[in-house]
Amino acid sequence: MSSESPSIVVLGAGVAGLCAALYLQRSGQRVLVIDAQPPASGTSYGNAGLISKDTAVPIALPGMMRKVPRWLTDREGPLRVSPSYMPAATPWLWRWIQAGQMSHVLRISDAMRALHKDALDCWRELLGAEDYDDLIRPVGQVRIWEGEGAGAQIELDICRRHGIEHRQLDQAAIRDLYPEIAPDITQGLLIPGNAYTVNPQRLVRTLARKLAEAGGQVLTERVVKIIPREGGGYRLMNNVANHHVRRVVVSAGAWSTELLAPLGVAIPLETERGYHAMMPSPNLKLKVPMSVKNRGFGLTSMEEGLRAAGTVEIAGLQAPPDERRAEVLVRHARRIFPKLQTGEPAYWLGHRPSSPDSLPFIGPVPGHEGLYLCLGHGHFGMTGGPPSGRLLSRLVSGQAPGFDPAPYAVDRF
Ligand SMILES: Cc1cc2nc3c(=O)[nH]c(=O)nc-3n(C[C@H](O)[C@H](O)[C@H](O)COP(=O)(O)OP(=O)(O)OC[C@H]3O[C@@H](n4cnc5c(N)ncnc54)[C@H](O)[C@@H]3O)c2cc1C
Repeated sequence: MSSESPSIVVLGAGVAGLCAALYLQRSGQRVLVIDAQPPASGTSYGNAGLISKDTAVPIALPGMMRKVPRWLTDREGPLRVSPSYMPAATPWLWRWIQAGQMSHVLRISDAMRALHKDALDCWRELLGAEDYDDLIRPVGQVRIWEGEGAGAQIELDICRRHGIEHRQLDQAAIRDLYPEIAPDITQGLLIPGNAYTVNPQRLVRTLARKLAEAGGQVLTERVVKIIPREGGGYRLMNNVANHHVRRVVVSAGAWSTELLAPLGVAIPLETERGYHAMMPSPNLKLKVPMSVKNRGFGLTSMEEGLRAAGTVEIAGLQAPPDERRAEVLVRHARRIFPKLQTGEPAYWLGHRPSSPDSLPFIGPVPGHEGLYLCLGHGHFGMTGGPPSGRLLSRLVSGQAPGFDPAPYAVDRF
């Protein structure tokens, strides 16, 4: 960045913050990004890498209520709520269960579709053709269901609702794609328009590099407090410095509420913790990444091995990792591919920043001039990050948003 002070500061160098930063920069802003860690060291580091432009199925679906007892007792299940954290999580969980009513599901799905459908175009726009081809594989995604396949119907209905290309796979078609798969996996769904990245961290770091190459700056500092200044703008009180800025975008992922609460800004954001097991030397490579829907995780062949990533644990930001939840992903992967050899897996815990309705918060914060949010992408940051950054930048510069921004409004709850 030139010696001129930034015209806007983005807090957070994950996928959400860096996509916003790059779009803002291209719209003519002088952008500074501040993160306590190097780019893509948070949740954007360890996800399953699925870029799901043709996915518009919310996380909360009908029938959630009757699953609550299992969430509390099954330590290794796809969704776990820590009993000691239950009181803190109850208001958010209640809204989440409400969002799972069918009438809401369709409305939310429409908003997901509006945001996600341009995800690959936005990635290409941000990365340029060369880096896009290096980092992204537009080969589709497969969903599989072990056993009964409850939930498959809603995926199909939503594909049809939006005219999304899809193909139901029988056992033979699944075997064609995955010759090593267990014989009892008999139903799947191919979404050919989806994609994946071979390395989420390298992908997001490429955004930081592009920002710097175009004169932007990324500072490694921790923001301790955002303090409104008399006469407008904000003081960012950081661990080693203060910065005075007119406009601030909060994209600090699951930690954003810690920065927003002292300003009196309350949004329903909970962390849906998820795990990965990175298997460094697998003896198989998936041509197309797979989501195992009944167990809530994805399997993706990446540059550094085979990554099993997913599941949800509601236990807040502070609880230590429960590594059994990562170990179990390896067991599930071996169940699906019985001859899988892995090498010694590396385990990781990530903190999805999640709203109850699976939609992010994008736009100005009412009553706080110059304060914007671009956060809350939950399970879909690698997908929704780029189009959210584009939308945010349009809202900041007063351009036409391109589609209705109301479903993502900061004050919708
Ligand atoms: C197991 C798992 C699998 C997933 N799989 C997929 C997938 O396949 N496809 C998909 O689209 N999405 C997936 N996701 C979701 C996706 O990873 C997230 O939605 C996305 O990474 C969130 O990005 P973010 O930029 O909002 O947050 P983060 O990447 O967490 O970035 C937030 C940043 O803010 C910084 N920060 C926080 N507080 C401060 C502070 N006070 N001062 C300075 N900096 C601060 C942090 O250091 C961090 O770098 C998955 C998530 C998990 C956990």
